[in-house]
Amino acid sequence: MIRKGRLLGLIVFASFLFPFYIVSGWTGRDQQKTDGSQDVPAYHKEAPKEPLPKTRKPESFEDPLAKNVYAMAAKIEEVLYQQPCYCRCDETDHHESLLDCFLDNHGADCDICQREVILAYNESKKGKTAGEIRNEIMDGKYTGIDLGQYKTPMNIDR
Ligand SMILES: [Zn+2]
Repeated sequence: MIRKGRLLGLIVFASFLFPFYIVSGWTGRDQQKTDGSQDVPAYHKEAPKEPLPKTRKPESFEDPLAKNVYAMAAKIEEVLYQQPCYCRCDETDHHESLLDCFLDNHGADCDICQREVILAYNESKKGKTAGEIRNEIMDGKYTGIDLGQYKTPMNIDR
């Protein structure tokens, strides 16, 4: 009888917890955007200690948007090295940061990588640090970038 009682108690306890698991699973997923603690794509936490590989030359592309974003990428390699890329190329292409998207042609066709690099470029021109930019990217600020504004040739000076 004692055993049965214990089993019943366990079942009641488990079924009480069950909805809690579902709810906590959900909020956990919601939190990733704001606190960055969950499921953030790969990035480097520190500035690089070695010289970085060069991004692809903007001249390799015909498309003005691609030219612009690759020209921006070349100016802020250190910043990109410290950013996650939300197209999940860390899983599909084993990228270690947003910089990797611009070492080959990947960034020419990916609107997520493009929005992120434009945000990072604009914000670093304003003097923001890589860490500050990373927080903005994790908050999803890059999704507000209008790519339409970057489809004509630009002078990316610094
Ligand atoms: Zn990417």
